[in-house]
Amino acid sequence: MTRNLALRLVLVIFAALLVLSPVGHLAASTAPSNYHWARQSKQFTVRAGDNYSGVWDRLVPWAVKGWSKSDTVTIKTVKGGTSAQACNPTKGKIEVCSFNYGTQTNWLGLTRLYFDSKGQHIESATVQMNDSFFNQRGGKYNSDAARRHTICHEMGHAIGLDHVNTKSCMNDSQSAVFNNVVPINKDFKQLARIYKHTDSYTTVAGKQKKDKKAEKDKQGKKSKKDAKKQRRKEAKKKLRERKRAGKAGIVAESALDANETVTMERLDNGQTVVTFITWAAE
Ligand SMILES: [Zn+2]
Ligand SMILES: [Zn+2]
Repeated sequence: MTRNLALRLVLVIFAALLVLSPVGHLAASTAPSNYHWARQSKQFTVRAGDNYSGVWDRLVPWAVKGWSKSDTVTIKTVKGGTSAQACNPTKGKIEVCSFNYGTQTNWLGLTRLYFDSKGQHIESATVQMNDSFFNQRGGKYNSDAARRHTICHEMGHAIGLDHVNTKSCMNDSQSAVFNNVVPINKDFKQLARIYKHTDSYTTVAGKQKKDKKAEKDKQGKKSKKDAKKQRRKEAKKKLRERKRAGKAGIVAESALDANETVTMERLDNGQTVVTFITWAAE
């Protein structure tokens, strides 16, 4: 089964679910997603691969700079690891791509989160910008605001953020596409919350900054009691993560808004992939 077909199948299943159980769908859409990268310190750096061209050479670094105002996440642009057209994932990285993916796809931006084998943490992500819309002559989305909104929005998903009803670019309403182009303080607070815990392993590639607490732990000797407490804490955390992953379930998630669809699928290799699709409105 090709990935496209799988995705379409998931969408069909999702549409069916919508008709059959509108209540279930509502419940799913209000649940926090908790998608995040694994890391051993609260502050971390994630690399974003350059598989883009044209205006994106200017706008991707601009969006990266906007998100990096967060004390939690630093995004660093690096050499790309895929082709713009295929936009395949690379472990530990976000691959950012721009290409004329066609208007028949009907999407402006697409973010896919690939999870580790435990299904608990993001281990790679891809962000795609559809130039067929952004460069369409006389097109509605051929606007600086729509481009800025979309790159800001998709990068936000790639670092684990969900939709909001604020002035943030994470707002997915049609008016936000043309008005909300940057992250706001609330987004940075949410990132701090998402990444408040540390993990026992790391899925982000590259050298990581150590945060103050980790440094202190390394220098000072901890008492046995502390160590025991820490182990218990970690066991609890693991349990929580497993629960979260379980709750996220498989098949399909929800359409949080008419403009966006979130799907969850299981690839043939058993890997879980979450896709956020920002649709172009009619
Ligand atoms: Zn975690
Ligand atoms: Zn979205």
